[in-house]
Amino acid sequence: MSNQDVLVCQNAGKTYEEAGRSLEVLKGVSFTLKAGDRVAIVGTSGSGKSTLLNLLGGLEKPSVGEVSVGGENLYTVSEKARSAIRNRQLGFVYQFHHLLPEFTALENVAIPQVLAGEPIKVAQEKAQRLLVQVGLEQRVDHKPAQLSGGERQRVAIARALVNEPACVLMDEPTGNLDRQTAEEIQNLMMDLNQRLNTAFIVVTHDLELASTMDRVLVLKDGQLQEQDR
Ligand code: ADP
Ligand code: MG
Repeated sequence: MSNQDVLVCQNAGKTYEEAGRSLEVLKGVSFTLKAGDRVAIVGTSGSGKSTLLNLLGGLEKPSVGEVSVGGENLYTVSEKARSAIRNRQLGFVYQFHHLLPEFTALENVAIPQVLAGEPIKVAQEKAQRLLVQVGLEQRVDHKPAQLSGGERQRVAIARALVNEPACVLMDEPTGNLDRQTAEEIQNLMMDLNQRLNTAFIVVTHDLELASTMDRVLVLKDGQLQEQDR
């Protein structure tokens, strides 16, 4: 592995056991993501896209194979070390935002900074800047329930980016956004990609978004294939 490798997935497989039947969702998936790479993952519903993203993000242990982030094997380190890797090096945007309902937009975005050990004031300033960047300067003190779906998604994206992760994993980030908001999010991703060399792995049905990525990988029959373009 070279020091430019942000995320390496080697021969990762996932089999679910349910009601005495086993379902092999992923079969020997391998790929390498380098700093600044932008990759789209596409595939039919149920093909295992979310499962793969969970494996890559340290949320679900593969049945076989390895995943390493910044040279550290995600599933052989301690739970605590894995959390630290996730907090410092990865950002997550899920299809449904998972914001904390009791906290304001600003607080939701600031939390990963605080967990990384930044002083509250620094965390808040950084969160404020990110919220301005996603066009939410008028919404910083709103709680998730007081925001529209698109606004919540933008807060979730600001939260994913606040620690300036080496890699952002997104599961259908623009799935329930209108075209204009989706394009703003896309521009924000491109900006970060160029300024900070942030790598992106984006699971998406949005062909427009997929077409702006460097590579499109298709998940089919448990395996990843490069899409001809
Ligand atoms: P996608 O995101 O591509 O729609 P998923 O990764 O969510 O697909 O799911 C892939 C397959 O794995 C589906 O058939 C799903 O039912 C199954 N699956 C996902 N999670 C679990 C689980 N925790 N237990 C059993 N089966 C699961
Ligand atoms: Mg999914």
